[in-house]
Amino acid sequence: MLTPLLFVCPICACPATRETLPLCQGCAKALIPCPELCPGCGRADCLRPGCRKLIFNPMASLRKRHALWLSIGRTHETLKRWKKIPSRGLDRLLFLNPGPKARLEGFGDACFVPIPQNPWRSWRLGRNPAEDISGFAARLSGGTVHRILEWVNHSGPQARLPRAERECQERTFRLRAGERLLDPSRTYIVTDDFTTTGKTLEAAADSLRAKGAKRVESLVLGYRPYLRQNLKILTAGE
Ligand SMILES: [Zn+2]
Ligand SMILES: [Zn+2]
Repeated sequence: MLTPLLFVCPICACPATRETLPLCQGCAKALIPCPELCPGCGRADCLRPGCRKLIFNPMASLRKRHALWLSIGRTHETLKRWKKIPSRGLDRLLFLNPGPKARLEGFGDACFVPIPQNPWRSWRLGRNPAEDISGFAARLSGGTVHRILEWVNHSGPQARLPRAERECQERTFRLRAGERLLDPSRTYIVTDDFTTTGKTLEAAADSLRAKGAKRVESLVLGYRPYLRQNLKILTAGE
């Protein structure tokens, strides 16, 4: 029997339970783990053998793409809540419960490279969620966090731009001054809070590869599918 508390779930305003703080039991149960993403195109509903990007581009920037949660509906609200107001309860639900924990532990001894924060975002949050995600992943997997990337051209908060513009816009990264060449024998995992198109992650991966990294993967907290059809396929089995 779960213990109802006087606290109210920030997502749905139902009473929170001690075991799932700060969420209610319903919202905690509603969290949807993200299925494997196609390493070619980054979509969750791609049929791998037919993926054009895989067929024509075996040397894609990212060898694998990982996402902990499928960022739709209540899950998206919960992830946004963690991003804005992190808490131990949400840390536990999103990173330390058996499901996400096992996935993070599976990374082994990797180098986690957070996507650097854009200035507008740091002003608003005062921290970089990508660094927090890297931190959890490194702690659980025995890996290390490397804050080695910086933006080359930054032109404003990406989330506010229309999709077409977001995709056209050139976004590149470079290694911070003073960073040495990367170790080709290590796995580098670029991390960010959310991904939709994967373009930012690809740009970061390209800059690591240009500096000697051979194996680059990506990890995000939430994968946001943007096509209705994509969403339908993903929720069909529920
Ligand atoms: Zn709730
Ligand atoms: Zn694909």
